[in-house]
Amino acid sequence: MQQKLKIAIQKSGRLYEDSVKLLKDCGIDVKNGINKLKTEAENFPLEIYFLRDDDIPQYVEDAVADIGIVGENVLYEKNKKVDVVEKLGFGKCRLSIAVSRGEQYSGPAYLQGKRIATTYPVLVQRFLDEQGIRAEIHEISGSVEIAPGIGLAEAIVDLVSSGSTLFMNGLKEVETILRSEAVLVRNKSLDEEQLKLLDRFLFRIRAVKKAKNNKYVLMNAPTDKLQDIIALLPGMKSPTVLPLAEPGWSSVHSVISENQFWDIIEQLKAAGAQGILVVPIEKMIL
Ligand code: ATP
Ligand code: ZN
Repeated sequence: MQQKLKIAIQKSGRLYEDSVKLLKDCGIDVKNGINKLKTEAENFPLEIYFLRDDDIPQYVEDAVADIGIVGENVLYEKNKKVDVVEKLGFGKCRLSIAVSRGEQYSGPAYLQGKRIATTYPVLVQRFLDEQGIRAEIHEISGSVEIAPGIGLAEAIVDLVSSGSTLFMNGLKEVETILRSEAVLVRNKSLDEEQLKLLDRFLFRIRAVKKAKNNKYVLMNAPTDKLQDIIALLPGMKSPTVLPLAEPGWSSVHSVISENQFWDIIEQLKAAGAQGILVVPIEKMIL
């Protein structure tokens, strides 16, 4: 029987949809996992386990799953012996300190002798140790943001993305102790066959990530401005230049990365490019 790679992903919650989408974008079809503990991919030797995110590091350390998708916040809190293979670019959030909006927060020294409510005692203790501060950590399992209001703690450490939950509870974010995103982790002792499968899977993940970070751009350029326009384009190799039916004009095709995108588009316009089309790329293999 062909060996399969076992991957653990979150059963439901903030990482579920993006994890399944990543598999789909990698050409791996996952049958709906709701109410199932495990399923098999149709067209890649992959077995998918649906678990609570908190359990994923342990399962990967114990080789119940070979690989897993989990937030760095959970990974570093659990402190399990697994290797991080790839950052995945979704599930972005920050683990932050928040205090009542009326408080004057002068820096970490504010926390000296105070009570901090959190579901991340390990990461909070590490932060306090680094800062040389003694404070009392109250580990609670949820609804951390109500702790100051009910007199349980002076500060909280919790995950934040927009900050609206904090705001609704009369709190303000004052310090970030960890920036987190979803990562792919692997068991430390995969055999040769498993490593080969992981490589094939990773190759696809990287092609999908790269494609997401790039756009395909087509534009019309006056032939006498071509030199200037080409100089602005990074591209994979050199841009494709095709003559248009109208004399004196060419069509230029290239690839531009998302983070340079707006700058370059402005410069292209200024250099005389017209009719600029921007198209998403599905996969990108270099
Ligand atoms: P589970 O039932 O699997 O234990 P959970 O309630 O612990 O789920 P979710 O709220 O679904 O977890 O969040 C899963 C992960 O999504 C977090 O650990 C974190 O890595 C990421 N995440 C991204 N943005 C946020 C956010 N604004 N708040 C909480 N988690 C976020
Ligand atoms: Zn959880």
